[in-house]
Amino acid sequence: MSAPAARPRHPPRTTTGPRSPLLEIDLSAVAANTRHFTHTTGGEVMAVVKADGFGHGLDRMARTALANGATWLGATSIAEAVQARAADADAPVLSWLNPVDADVTTACEHRIDLAVPSGRHLAAVVESCTRSGHRARVHLQLDTGMARDGAAPHEWPELMATARHAERAGHITVEGVMGHLPRAGEPGPSPNTTGRQEFLRGVALAEQAGLRPSVRHLAATAATLTDPDTHLDLVRIGAGLAGIDPSGSTRLRPALRLTAPVVQVRRVPAGTGLGYGHTHVTDRATNLALLPIGYADGVPRAASNRAQVTVAGRRCPVVGMISMDQLVADLGDQLVEPDTEAVVFGPGEEGEPTVDDWARWADTIPHEIVTGIGHRVRRSMR
Ligand SMILES: *Cc1c(COP(=O)(O)O)cnc(C)c1O
Repeated sequence: MSAPAARPRHPPRTTTGPRSPLLEIDLSAVAANTRHFTHTTGGEVMAVVKADGFGHGLDRMARTALANGATWLGATSIAEAVQARAADADAPVLSWLNPVDADVTTACEHRIDLAVPSGRHLAAVVESCTRSGHRARVHLQLDTGMARDGAAPHEWPELMATARHAERAGHITVEGVMGHLPRAGEPGPSPNTTGRQEFLRGVALAEQAGLRPSVRHLAATAATLTDPDTHLDLVRIGAGLAGIDPSGSTRLRPALRLTAPVVQVRRVPAGTGLGYGHTHVTDRATNLALLPIGYADGVPRAASNRAQVTVAGRRCPVVGMISMDQLVADLGDQLVEPDTEAVVFGPGEEGEPTVDDWARWADTIPHEIVTGIGHRVRRSMR
């Protein structure tokens, strides 16, 4: 065909120079983190890919983890679990945190295991399977000390009996028993001893009821890194794949780098009030760089007047309130060209701020930073 070339509808993309905020995702870091867990645990590793794979991309996170030794995928809602199933046709996928009227049929059709945290949930699963002829794969979920999701210990024996009944009737198969530990952020085994004992009592009661769950799972990242007694058959790792270690015991590799181009540089005299509310007033003449990224992109407003970014290799304070779409960095005497790349955070290897730094500046945890990066930030793989 030799039709004349159509006029491009969009201006040609250049491959050089920062054009807009960009989140670079280093999958080799996710791969290395996954291998750390598969090599240091005796049982299997579930890659928890909820919240769009902790902001790294659910699909990418799932495939990378499975290619590096993880054997299970985990997510919260059935909708997220269906996405995980799309990432891999074969790996077992577990969904938790579902309402009683969740779409059990869709879960069964996608071979998604369901966490069952109460008798009411179980009754709904059985009812749905009776209607559709499916046999659901369930993981009975015990609350091991968080007063959050899972059955309370006093409800557990009855849940076991009902589950055994439903299993004999052919409506469900009890694949697993799961718990979750409250002291996620603290190193050392002792904070979790009570939760672990509670969990093992729950497993024993399941077995007494005639159930034979093949996967007993309790530990997430922190307990996995600090307390081998919690590993059991399977560990559920989310934060750790993203390079976050809540226990502070292990060096994992952060995978994200967030940059934005400088859109404007201005020279201001001493005494200049900056941004909404003039929460910062310059104490000297200085150069200010404007970055087109703000709290709508996940840069926390709470870090205003505390955070730093790197511009042309130098740390510069973020001054004034972080706005919805923009923030201002104080360059001091440094002068840079517009379009210079500013680094909001990265792995920290070149002196740039890290996700941990931003979490500290915003009085939060790194999980909230990585899961908060907004949709209008471009993504690219490294
Ligand atoms: C989020 C979550 C995990 C993963 O926890 P990390 O500390 O991020 O590894 C594991 N289990 C459950 C039930 C979760 O909700």
